[in-house]
Amino acid sequence: MSKQHKPPKINVAKERPDTEQMLVKVFADLNCPFCFALHERIDREQLNDRVQWCFVEHAPAFNSRAMTDEQAELLHNEYQLICQRAPDISVREPQNCVNTKLAILTLLTLEQSAPEKSDSYLKKLYRAYWQEGLDISDPQVLHDLLSQIHLDSIQISTPARQIQQEWQETWEKGDFDLRIPAMLASDNEVMLGLQHPENIRSFIFQTSQHNYMQGDTCLHRGDFNLAGLGISELAQKLHTEANGLHIRNFEQINPLISYCQNNPVDAVLLDYALDQKHRYQGIRALKEELDTGWDQPIIYISPDKKPHEEVQAFSLGASDFAQSLDNCAPLIARLKRSLTQARTVDLLRRYAVVDGLTGLINKREFEQNLEKEWRHACRYNLNLSAIMIDIDHFKDYNDNYGHCAGDDVLHQVARCLEQNLNRPKDIVARFGGEEFIVLLPDTQASGLKVVCEQLRRAIEQLNISHKVSPVLPKVTISLGGCSALPHPDQTAKQLVELADQSLYQAKEQGRNRFILNHLSRPDYIAKTDYS
Ligand code: GH3
Ligand code: MG
Ligand code: MG
Repeated sequence: MSKQHKPPKINVAKERPDTEQMLVKVFADLNCPFCFALHERIDREQLNDRVQWCFVEHAPAFNSRAMTDEQAELLHNEYQLICQRAPDISVREPQNCVNTKLAILTLLTLEQSAPEKSDSYLKKLYRAYWQEGLDISDPQVLHDLLSQIHLDSIQISTPARQIQQEWQETWEKGDFDLRIPAMLASDNEVMLGLQHPENIRSFIFQTSQHNYMQGDTCLHRGDFNLAGLGISELAQKLHTEANGLHIRNFEQINPLISYCQNNPVDAVLLDYALDQKHRYQGIRALKEELDTGWDQPIIYISPDKKPHEEVQAFSLGASDFAQSLDNCAPLIARLKRSLTQARTVDLLRRYAVVDGLTGLINKREFEQNLEKEWRHACRYNLNLSAIMIDIDHFKDYNDNYGHCAGDDVLHQVARCLEQNLNRPKDIVARFGGEEFIVLLPDTQASGLKVVCEQLRRAIEQLNISHKVSPVLPKVTISLGGCSALPHPDQTAKQLVELADQSLYQAKEQGRNRFILNHLSRPDYIAKTDYS
């Protein structure tokens, strides 16, 4: 971008159909595949005038000239994921992870100086990276894209930098769990992730009530947030010397635990000598108090370490034992390395439990949840219900509308089932093919009946055309429910098998309906219970 050129004339207010208040803000980055797909869907639905794109950097460390193996792996995984999740959008695998700062700033400068051209430039930026394989961190590439919209060059403006910084701060502090894409409506409602076009439309027009929903998202991969215990001096040093590491130090264990429970923390650093003095209460409390789902690295820090101390640290469940020397550089390098690895593992773990097409948990993950809930119900003498769900005449749908349209239906049905479950502990999973399974903890037959009807009706009301279905000219589901008062002598598998038999009956009796059964306790158990 040559600096001799003057920036184009400034400040023609952009015409929008509604007041600024009504615009839905979309927090996004140019190098996130889900944001790209969301942009394409918004563009296709002609909703661009309804949204304000707020660009943030979710991966500022990306640099096309120094891509690590992990970044390359991540990019490849994201490319594969977007092909599965958004088959309606054409994508080419990018060559590099790119830094987007310059592209974002050119876009923002343009929004102020030539707003009528900014939508078209944004589209070009996204497509250049996700469809044409161009490196949009390269000033020459940006220059070429600008010349396609008849601009010679632009000079990044100071207001553009300020606006970008404001958006970045709003997003990082907002209720978005550091994820993109994130949509924020004027009433502060949030929709996270890439959603089906129907959901995007209804969110933008606020035609239906949305809870905090989540589709496919990218995590913030820039800075790392650490929490420390008793390491104020080191925290101070890292604060000044370590780019990209933010550390919050605590002197007491309880505030540290509550901070970890309520904030995205990448790792905890504990002073070894201090914890040793307190009989390792710090690490023990962290391991016990934090949710079982919280398994970020816990790293001991010490100016020196003896072999037996190191062994002790690992036996207590620490992930690492790092030395804090006067020169912090080796420690910083070591921390960054283990934090990046932890994020990659976290991402792979999420891929392993989530079904690629629908975004629901997969069968294996469901079965683990089922076992856990079954044991819980046995212990506390609670009811447990399951629903097996199957789309009616789905083979005919695929044959008539094509496999891609079929995939889209699976996605829509998944979202709809998810949205129509009421309690936080209710679970829905893709069981396989066009079958889904729902688990309703602490729910007896009467509640099961209500949920079955609600789900059946919700799918019918999606009104997805299925002209060749003998049931109705739209997509419908059949449901088989089973309730139980689990007993340790029975198994969770019996609950699922009986739900499956109920489903078979619902199919036989004409589809688009539900049948319920109850898993009775064996006679000898029933007798003991009543004696
Ligand atoms: P029924 O009402 O008895 O359930 O009839 P059906 O046609 O739905 O049942 P059938 O078992 O004969 O066919 C299931 C179909 O589901 C066949 C298969 O093409 C389709 N299917 C399974 N998995 C997928 C998928 O991932 N994507 C798409 N598009 N179709 C799938
Ligand atoms: Mg089936
Ligand atoms: Mg079917």
